[in-house]
Amino acid sequence: MDIAEYRRRGKEMVDYVADYLENIENRDVYPNVEPGYLRKLIPEMAPEEPETYEEIMKDVERIIMPGVTHWHSPYFYAYFPAASSFPGMLADMLSCAIGCIGFSWAASPACTELETVMLDWLGKMLNLPEEFLAGTKGQGGGVIQGTASEATLVSLLGARSKALKRIKAEHPSLSEAEVLNKLVAYMSEQAHSSVERAGLIGGVQMKKLPTDGKFAVQASALMEAIKTDKAAGLIPFYFCATLGTTPSCAFDNLLETGPICNSEHIWMHIDAAYAGSSFICPEFRPLLNGVEFADSFNFNPHKWLLVNFDCSAMWVKKRTDIIGAFKMDPLYLQHDHQESGLVTDYRHWQIPLGRRFRSLKLWFVFRIYGKKGLQEHIRKQVKLAHEFENLVLQDDRFEICAEVIMGLVCFRLKGSNELNENLLKMINISRKIHLVPCHLAGAFVLRLAVCARTTDSKHIQFAWKTISEVATELLRKQPQ
Ligand SMILES: *Cc1c(COP(=O)(O)O)cnc(C)c1O
Repeated sequence: MDIAEYRRRGKEMVDYVADYLENIENRDVYPNVEPGYLRKLIPEMAPEEPETYEEIMKDVERIIMPGVTHWHSPYFYAYFPAASSFPGMLADMLSCAIGCIGFSWAASPACTELETVMLDWLGKMLNLPEEFLAGTKGQGGGVIQGTASEATLVSLLGARSKALKRIKAEHPSLSEAEVLNKLVAYMSEQAHSSVERAGLIGGVQMKKLPTDGKFAVQASALMEAIKTDKAAGLIPFYFCATLGTTPSCAFDNLLETGPICNSEHIWMHIDAAYAGSSFICPEFRPLLNGVEFADSFNFNPHKWLLVNFDCSAMWVKKRTDIIGAFKMDPLYLQHDHQESGLVTDYRHWQIPLGRRFRSLKLWFVFRIYGKKGLQEHIRKQVKLAHEFENLVLQDDRFEICAEVIMGLVCFRLKGSNELNENLLKMINISRKIHLVPCHLAGAFVLRLAVCARTTDSKHIQFAWKTISEVATELLRKQPQ
């Protein structure tokens, strides 16, 4: 493909994408294929001879689209949203074109510098304490990680290394292995599986803290665990608090767990992957109160802030805590400015070396929407969730299972888990809308997350109509 053809195909692709998104409602939101469907449709080997672009695009409709779950359909209500917007997509296109691997300042200065400034912009939008920002006298700063899972892992490894140093200094006779064996980390029993996984990868014990009636961790649970573990000779060193848990969007109590962490030398990381975006609205910002006690904080603009995947924003209060934990400096990555103290080399802040120019999409999205436009998006989706909640509440066959605070509604038919499992199965088989379940206090619960940017009241009404019709059919078949 030469540059002349690229110009033509590029414009065609923009039209294809626009048509796809404009007409996405006409496609079944969830595909009707069996595992292995795709291998049967394509050759066993890569082509020996070049093929034409037309042939590829024909196969996109024939082979790919039938197996796509349409995350940006307004009938998609599963998981949490995957953000998408036109400025986000355009900026990603530019990022591909520049195609730099921004591991150090010198590897592409704009890539590093825009990222530092964008994380400050975003931090200010959230009203984060100044200590987390890079452009202040503090020792903090922000970085874009690929995912929240990586942010959690990086924070855990930073905390582990900090704890090791501190304890070795206090007890020089202990070996590193002895200290590692005693370290213990905490998470909510409702935390995302990636937190438990960070413990596994980081090779430390991770304990699940029980939650209260609202599925949130309270100080008493943390205090109890610390007391028991210290009495057993263990060393608590890390607590991952969740703001907006994945099952039900519960908020751990930062204001009370934070001070405990601070006085016990426990690193507090906050995982607000989904709900974090809402803190740009003053009415939701109080949910972040207590962040001042945290050592690190993370959320995913790629979930709810209209910035396409991958873009997970992470801030640390003391950047040397994570930079120092993973530093490697081979000659081929060194550059003249690195010792000046003025530049950031983001390779020290993350697991991989390579990194894309991801801050472009923050910059484009922030400027096209403005803080106001982004706030409108959040508010609209929260409002739609409440609209759905009210529909559920008006039907006494159903119950709401957790407080609706953001864009997520947890609900179920009053009755057995089996009944609700069947309800979900029938809803998803209809392919009109798509939901996933969760467990809350032993109950099988359906989750409806307002996802697509284009979701409107009419889609919510349709979703409810679908659910209530399926419920009617299901209950009619039930033995009385
Ligand atoms: C979605 C989610 C994650 C995982 O996010 P990734 O960016 O895919 O790693 C982690 N924590 C919470 C609370 C989430 O909702």
